[in-house]
Amino acid sequence: METKICNQCNKEKTLKSFAKNRTSTKKQYHRAKCNTCRNKNQKTGLYYVYYLPNENYCGITDYLTRRLSKHKKEGKNIENHHVLYISRDKKQAAYHEALYQSTLCMEGLALTMYN
Ligand SMILES: [Zn+2]
Repeated sequence: METKICNQCNKEKTLKSFAKNRTSTKKQYHRAKCNTCRNKNQKTGLYYVYYLPNENYCGITDYLTRRLSKHKKEGKNIENHHVLYISRDKKQAAYHEALYQSTLCMEGLALTMYN
């Protein structure tokens, strides 16, 4: 199996671990960084407390776009989602998630307060 060494973590991984990309001349190549490293780089270090009004669901994530696409894949309706709270501090974010879950994540209430 063909492998490649990631230029960030220096680990040797199979080509499957590297996303494909194309150059401007349409030549296909594998990215220099493995998917794990690319995901890490895309993280902002922020924790998001978010709300899905159609599911009446409140959650916490440090990678909002990925979490939302995961919910979508699971069949959740992510339309009109909002971010209720953002923090660099995971504990703060978790505290707010708990707060919203216990008091605000009732139909409509979060919408009224945060729109
Ligand atoms: Zn890597």
